[in-house]
This record gives sequence, C-alpha cells and structure tokens, in this order.
Amino acid sequence: MTQFCQKTTTTMSQLRFEALKKLNERPKVHVEATTPNISQFFGEYVFGMEQMRATLAPAVFKKVSNAIKNHEKIDETTADAVASAAKSWAIAKGATHFTHWFQPMTGGTAEKHDSFFDALSGIEKFKGSELVQQEPDASSFPSGGIRSTFEARGYTAWDPTSPMFLYGKTLSIPTVFVSYTGETLDTKSPLLKALKAVDVAATQVCQLFDKDIQHVVASLGAEQEYFAVDKALYNARPDLVMAGRTVFGHAPARGQQLEDHYFGTIPGRVYDFMRDFEIESWKLGIPVRTRHNEVAPSQFEVAPLFEEVNVANDHNQLMMDVMSRVGEKHNLKILFHEKPFAGLNGSGKHNNWSLITDTGVNLYAPSSSARDNLLFLTFFVTTIKAVHEHADLLRASIATAGNDFRLGANEAPPAIMSVFIGSQMTAVLDELEKKGNVKIEKGDNMYMKLGIDQIPEIILDATDRNRTSPFAFTGNKFEFRAVGGSDNCGTPMAILNLIVADQLTKFYETVSKEIEKGEEKRIAIVNVLRKYIKESKAIRFEGDGYSDEWVKEADKRGLNNIKNMPRAIEGYVSKKSLELFEKYGVLSHKEVEARNEIRLESYIKKVQIEARVIGDLAMNHIVPTAIAYQNKLITNANGLSGLGVDNKAVVQTIKEISGHIETIKASVREMVEERKRLNKITDTHKRAFGYCDDIKEKYFDKIRDAVDRLELLVDNADWPLVKYRELLFLR
Ligand code: ADP
Ligand code: MG
Repeated sequence: MTQFCQKTTTTMSQLRFEALKKLNERPKVHVEATTPNISQFFGEYVFGMEQMRATLAPAVFKKVSNAIKNHEKIDETTADAVASAAKSWAIAKGATHFTHWFQPMTGGTAEKHDSFFDALSGIEKFKGSELVQQEPDASSFPSGGIRSTFEARGYTAWDPTSPMFLYGKTLSIPTVFVSYTGETLDTKSPLLKALKAVDVAATQVCQLFDKDIQHVVASLGAEQEYFAVDKALYNARPDLVMAGRTVFGHAPARGQQLEDHYFGTIPGRVYDFMRDFEIESWKLGIPVRTRHNEVAPSQFEVAPLFEEVNVANDHNQLMMDVMSRVGEKHNLKILFHEKPFAGLNGSGKHNNWSLITDTGVNLYAPSSSARDNLLFLTFFVTTIKAVHEHADLLRASIATAGNDFRLGANEAPPAIMSVFIGSQMTAVLDELEKKGNVKIEKGDNMYMKLGIDQIPEIILDATDRNRTSPFAFTGNKFEFRAVGGSDNCGTPMAILNLIVADQLTKFYETVSKEIEKGEEKRIAIVNVLRKYIKESKAIRFEGDGYSDEWVKEADKRGLNNIKNMPRAIEGYVSKKSLELFEKYGVLSHKEVEARNEIRLESYIKKVQIEARVIGDLAMNHIVPTAIAYQNKLITNANGLSGLGVDNKAVVQTIKEISGHIETIKASVREMVEERKRLNKITDTHKRAFGYCDDIKEKYFDKIRDAVDRLELLVDNADWPLVKYRELLFLR
C-alpha cells in the first residue's frame, strides 16, 4: 500500500531526478568485433555482385549484371535463379524469412516478412516471382488521394541495382513501391528514373570528348549528423518522445560558444556506441569511415565512403536504423531531427555528390591537362546553370517540417539557394565571362586565350571552404548541405540529378546544332559555357550565407528566400517543374500533386502534434509547477511581512511568475481555438499555411519564451523537465 501511494505521488521532477540517477549508473557496454580486421567481415551479410558471381551460372550472372548496368528488367528464369541462390545463401547464414524493403512517402523504411518455410510442401521455398514482386497491404501508406481515384492496392518490385542483405534473420530485398495503376508511392522510384536520365544525358555529353565512355554513374557520400541522448533522460522528456525535438528548454550556461566540442575527444559511452554500430554497418556492407564530434554538445557525425547514389541512399536509410537499434543497447536515443535543441547547431545530412564515368573519370575533378579541363568545366558550369534554372525545385526537395527549424537559423545554410565555388574557380569563371566576346579562331590555343589553362589541378585549399553555403563545390564534388538530418536523400538526389540531366541535354542539343552548322567542336562547347556562365551568375555567392546582407543582396538578385515547407514545396508544381518531370518520365503531373498532398498532410500532423505537446506540457506540467512554487513564495512573502522584513524582491518574483503563467494560459487557449478553426478548412494547402502561420509562427516561440523564463525562476528541485544542461553533457 505504501508502495502504491509512493508510486502515484511520483512527481515529474522526481522522474527527472530518477532519470539523472540512472545516467550515473550506466554499465559499460562491451563492444568487440570478432576480429579487428574489418576486411574479414565487411559485407558478410550482403548478397551482392560478388556473391551472385560466385553462386550463379556465368550466363545468368551476365544477364543480371547487364540488366543492372543498362537499367533493364530481369526476366523470369533469371529471377528464379537469383532467388534460389539468394535463399540458399541466406538460409546458410541463419535466415528464416524474406521481406521486400521499401521507402514509403512517410519517411523511414517499411517491410513485411514472409517465411521461407512452406508448410504445404514442408520445405523452404523462394520463387523468382516472390523476389520480383510482393503485395504489402498498401492501404495504410499515404498515397495523397491517388488510391481513391485509382486502385486500392499496390505492389513492391525488386530493385536489382541495390544488393539484398540479411538483417537479423530476414533476407531484405530493396524494392520500389507502386500502385496497381502504376503511380509510384515511394522515394526510390523517382530517384531511379532520375539516375537513369542523368546517366543518358551525361554519357551523351561525355561522348563529345571520349567515345569510350558508355555510362556515367552519380555518386553520393552522405555525412550524417545526429545527437545522442541518454535513454532515461529522453523518456523523461515527453516532447522528445512525441515530436523528436524539445519544445521547451532554456539554453545551458555553456552551449557551443567555447567551440570545444567540435572534433574534441568523443565521450566514452558514445565512442562505444559508435564502434558497435560501425561493426554492424560494416557487416551490412555500409562503408562507414569517419566519425567525430560535431559543433553542439552531444552532437556527432558519421560519414561513409561515397557510393553509387541509389545504393548510398539505401545504405544511409539502413544505417539510421542500425544506429537506432544499437543505440538501444547502449541506453542511448539517437536523434536525427533537424533541430532537437533550440539555440544549438541543428543536424543536416550533407550530400556530397559527383558524376563518375565508367572509365573512372570524376567529372568534377579538375585535371593537369587543359584539354581535359574542358570536360570538367562543361560539367561544372552546366551544374551551376542547372541550380540557377531550378533553384526553387531544389529548395522544394529539402523542404520538411523539421528542416524549417534549421534552414535560415543562424548556424545553418540559409533557405536561399546559392552555389559556392571558391576563389580559384571564381577567378576562372570570371575570366571566361570577361572574355565573353573574344573570338576563337580555328588553330587558336583556345585554352590559353580564355584562361582555361589556369585551372588549378587540385582545389582542396582548406581556407577556401565556405560552411555557410547550401550548395558548395569542394574540390572534386559538390556538397548539397541543405538536406535535413532525418530526411531520405532519395528526393533531393532525384531532383539534383534530374535538373543536371536536363541542363546537360540542353547543352548537348545546342552544341550539336552549332557543330552541324560547321562550328569547331571545342569552340561550340566553350561558347555555350560562356553563355551559361553569364546567365547563371546570380546564383553564385562566395560570402557569408548567414548574414543579413546576403538576404538583402539575394533579394536584389531575384533569388527566392522561401522560409517554410508549405510554401517551398510549391516549387514542385510550377509549370517548369512539372514539364521537367514529365519530359524524363520521372513523375506524372498527378503523382507530383499527390506527393505534395502527402507532404502537406504530414506537415499539418507534425505541427498539430507539436502544438498538442506544447499545450499539454505547458498546462499540465509547467503551470502547476510554477503555481506550486509561487505558493511557497507567497507563504515566504507573508512571513517576511509579518516579521516586518522587506519582501519586495519576493513579491517581484511572484508577479513575474504570474505574468508568465498568464501568457502561457492565454496563448494555449488561443492556440486551441485556432486549431479548431483550421481543422474545419478542407483545402489542404490553406490548412497547412494556417498551421504554419497561425499556429507555429504565432504561438510556439511565444509560449516557449514564457516557459523558458519560468525555468530560470522556479526552484531547480521542482522543475519537471530534464534540463538542456542535463540532456546534453554525456560522458
Ligand atoms: P570533406 O572534409 O570535404 O567533407 P571528406 O573527404 O571527408 O571531405 O568527404 C566527405 C564525404 O564526401 C565522404 O562521405 C566522402 O566519401 C564523400 N565524397 C568524396 N568524394 C566524393 C565524390 N567524388 N562523390 C561523392 N562523394 C564524395
Ligand atoms: Mg563535408
């Protein structure tokens, strides 16, 4: 009975202190790989090319590898052979089930396991048809109205370009997710189509220079930023649990101002966690390579070696899952949210990207030969031009509810799209622009005449780095930094590769026309580049992207600064964007509309959840705590006055607390009314704009400000929420 009583009277602040106590009692989790030689277990759980080569008949293997290279379908007999080999391989490693593994529009990954064991025949079975296609019940995945108009069910289809892997006891097969009427319902489908488009377009352009080039592969190295928080502390913060970010919390006395966390010694518990998830990742063939502390306390980064975009993205999605699971073992919660803690650095996922030919040339790497540099310049300039042409679409591709808290904040890339190329390449492009009218004649040393021979072979000067740019050239690749930490890179990568594909196509067409008219090839090429440099100059920015001056300057240049997600995603449905999607068959008009509908619905739900969390925490935890503390102060004030002692200071605090309580109560009440009003609006766009402007913008910071001030006034012993300083300083 006493125990029961104690339980029911446990206050939130007691929960906080119990959680803090647990933090100091965490046992060390022992981590050891079976061998320190990573090469001995790297890819142990992957059924990739090597395994297929080893287990399939040579003719079958050739069919599979050709189909992968040429983005073609795999026939039924071949699929049967692959399925059979994969099954034997997986069962030998302890697998009991298989699943299609896909990436629905909700974010994250989805799976539905089926057993290999067939009770009817009493043996393990896995047919080619099961490998190629599966029918998960699609009705609970969002389809943005597609399903009501078309067909209720969807299917998943094998993506042979990304290797199968064994996850736990389940053979996992990367797949796309499509409705029966053919509309795509996932992030992978448009990505695959865009990658094919860029392969075709880039190869065509490469062949102007080198006929041996048959394919161009886009590559991605996604640097993943994240926070690690003790599980007990996490569980004592309902906002983290429900919304993935803290809606309240006063900045700790020591945040990131000392800049001592970045690249500092990794805290022991996190180091063990890192080693553990790295080992698991390596077994799954994920080439994780770099680990370090990030800018904010308790913020870290993991970077893999780059791979082909589709595989790299699957690996990133899988790695996030591995990190969350391994985190549990270490009593850590891994936060990928773009802005879990106000006032501290947010988390992004820098997408390092380049195009590489099947002859091994990185098309974004300058070379020692001026002639080869014309190829480099072609891709370099065309990419800048593509970003200039489709800046709004690129902005749309990174728009999420979470990223709204990060973009445009003072430590994150701004919401304005621009390209940073560094002083050396700026000099080269400026020179080319200046010499825009210089006529090149047959037999001229064009490279010298235009200063192209001045391109430095290596552009990796650390001082020439700009961390404030959303899209930066970093010597031999572009780095798309605006992508959010929790996002699936599939969408931004689909858009980037698509816009570059289109610009390359246009480049090729213009150059070909000039050549037909009798122009010398290299002169035709350089003329188009000179035109592109001029036309896209406004998108190039080398200064401080965090500054207010840039906001003004960008406005003068006609660059958009779209601050929130509901408005940013309109970039998908502009006439220009829709035409682009249709031209390359990446998405139909209907699919784009449906996707935006899904995005808006999800945005509304997220803001709604946060509004509820804010309301609940403020009214049920903060206000009662503040009132209880205020009552203590009132007793104290009365006592002082009874003794004839001056109680002004105490009375002042009582008044301050009253003021904040008033603000909180009034704002929460109004916010609830606003929500009721908005929920009656049937138009999703209008409702989303309303949730953005009339809920989030109007009330979130206002309520937070009052709560955070109370945190400083109320006795630490009574405060119900784990404080920032407690959450953020793991050892
Ligand atoms: P930085 O310090 O400039 O960020 P790193 O060498 O640490 O550079 O690379 C960061 C990420 O960029 C890594 O994931 C790396 O594999 C990736 N990367 C390097 N070269 C390329 C490339 N050509 N294409 C795509 N990603 C690349
Ligand atoms: Mg980087």
